[in-house]
Amino acid sequence: DGENPAVPRSLVPARKVALITGITGQDGSYLTELLLSKGYEVHGLIRRSSNFNTQRLDHIYHDPHAVPSTPRPPLRLHYADLSDSSSLRQALDTIQPDEVYNLAAQSHVAVSFEIPDYTADVTATGALRLLEAVRLSRKPIRYYQAGSSEMFGSTPPPQSEDTPFHPREAYGLFACNGVLFNHESPRRGENFVTRKITRAVGRIKVGLQTKVFLGNLTAARDWGFAGDYVEAMWLMLQQDQPGDYVVATEESHTVEEFLQAAFGYAGLDWKDHVVVDKKYFRPAEVDSLKGDSSKARRELKWKPKVGFQQLVEMMVDNDIELANKEKVL
Ligand code: GDP
Repeated sequence: DGENPAVPRSLVPARKVALITGITGQDGSYLTELLLSKGYEVHGLIRRSSNFNTQRLDHIYHDPHAVPSTPRPPLRLHYADLSDSSSLRQALDTIQPDEVYNLAAQSHVAVSFEIPDYTADVTATGALRLLEAVRLSRKPIRYYQAGSSEMFGSTPPPQSEDTPFHPREAYGLFACNGVLFNHESPRRGENFVTRKITRAVGRIKVGLQTKVFLGNLTAARDWGFAGDYVEAMWLMLQQDQPGDYVVATEESHTVEEFLQAAFGYAGLDWKDHVVVDKKYFRPAEVDSLKGDSSKARRELKWKPKVGFQQLVEMMVDNDIELANKEKVL
């Protein structure tokens, strides 16, 4: 069939396989033509519809100028949906693509205001579902995501890759976004690092345990007191205009510094008790956080009342008391 019999099959470069979501759309159909012209095997995902929705592809299947003996192009369509994770996994499993082009979306801006929930599910969570399927695939896959210039919102032009996204202010709602840096207290969940440490300090202090297993000790965080931070939440809603605010102490400490402060306050040396366990390292780590809360300080007249050392002491005191109660039980 045109192959050179002198070349062993294993030396013929394998035809690349592409999967296109949104293949029935404008870009999907052009991309299909392009990839077919480059010798790809092309697969597309289509949604079930009560009407035919493959009009933009029909000419590829039924080329009116093709002589009857022309082989059909290597183009296959599969039923799947970005709202259905298992259908995506199944599709990747069957197709084993080298490249995935995610062009599927609820892409119409005006319609997104009519069906916001569906739009977020298909366009945002849908990309996540597909990426998860890509991640779990045994074969390495290259992924293309169709983003949108709509993401720039009201940010003035020209917009580049470094331009911040600006969500739309659509309905004049009084809605604020508080970007609260880490905020802790004696009520902090016990698997967050500060509370994990102070719980351990308490239990070690009263003899209930000797070791604590932690991950990355070099990470730095801007740790404030939760009680101060809820005040900032309230203040945001008392303003004349809604706004977005960073809430932070503007002071950053490493996990090791927290250990030092917490064990030190209890009269212990953290090095005698801490064991680093790789299990607590993260696939991706934010190394260092330190907030700039000048807008909140200026407009809300907010500032933190509890400092780092005071926060640590408050948590350790609480957890020594708690450990003493545990011991009695
Ligand atoms: P996050 O900043 O919201 O992730 O708050 P966490 O308190 O969970 O983590 C703060 C930092 O402590 C991160 O950089 C973690 O990697 C680091 N860390 C080190 N050891 C641990 C641990 O055993 N548990 C947790 N939760 N974080 C740890």
